[in-house]
Amino acid sequence: MHEEINPTQRYIGRFAPTPSGPLHFGSLIAAVGSYLDAHAHQGEWQLRIDDIDQPRTVPGATENILKALEGFGFEWSGPVVYQSQRLGIYEQALKTLEARAHLYACACTRREITERGSPGEYGPIYPGTCRSGLQPDQRPRALRCLTNSDPVCLDDRLQGHYCQQLENEIGDFVVRRADNIIAYQLATVIDDADQQVTDIVRGVDLLDSTPRQMHLQNLLGLPNPRYLHLPIAVNDEHEKLSKKTHARPLDTHHCVQQLFRTLVFLNQNPPAELVKATREELWNWAKQHWSTSRLPRKKEIIVSEG
Ligand SMILES: [Zn+2]
Repeated sequence: MHEEINPTQRYIGRFAPTPSGPLHFGSLIAAVGSYLDAHAHQGEWQLRIDDIDQPRTVPGATENILKALEGFGFEWSGPVVYQSQRLGIYEQALKTLEARAHLYACACTRREITERGSPGEYGPIYPGTCRSGLQPDQRPRALRCLTNSDPVCLDDRLQGHYCQQLENEIGDFVVRRADNIIAYQLATVIDDADQQVTDIVRGVDLLDSTPRQMHLQNLLGLPNPRYLHLPIAVNDEHEKLSKKTHARPLDTHHCVQQLFRTLVFLNQNPPAELVKATREELWNWAKQHWSTSRLPRKKEIIVSEG
């Protein structure tokens, strides 16, 4: 289907949960997928806590996540990276983008953008209102990154060829929000580059963010990693399992059953008797049998409960 990774190439993967609540089945899919893919390539798997959005960070959630991952038997390379400790590095990247004239201040409120922007597949398209500068009486709110109409394309290892014309489909996008928080798109790009991540395996709900991230990589002269976007678990109403949809937290007391269920979700076809195996036996089987060609080439799969 798609070009596989040359086995002699270095592989660094990562898992980057947001500590807005406990891990649930949806998070486990991304963790297991990225972990097994790293193992299959004799690669490293790093752990990063995406805690830049402090208002969304729940006290104790980081400790909970680390405990859950340990309970499931995940082993990561190197120290855990915390976005909240890297704010100066993101500011540096903003300065670089600013010096290269890729950024501008935007005074628009969310409401103004909804009113003026045409509705796009990914939300209202920013119409470039503030591109030519602000009036003296306007207060700068967010910082936006300039886009253009060149298509930004990737060959996702599972979802195939995917392109966006950022200017027409998204518009100039925010890299620092009105509340001064660095936008997810920029922080992710800087972290992945600093951690020398070569391969990103994550949920397909982030596929439409990828061209923005690649645009930033290109502007900053950073390499584009390879991407594999896994299907996401949704409920009967096609809502992603999340804290918002009351997904049940992972229970490390039943980690074998939940890992088994994840392998079934990822169509890895684990033998039925492994549901009674030990955690280590199941991991060993999964590491030996990981097959990206078996992965369901879908965007979402309905699961019975969160
Ligand atoms: Zn604006």
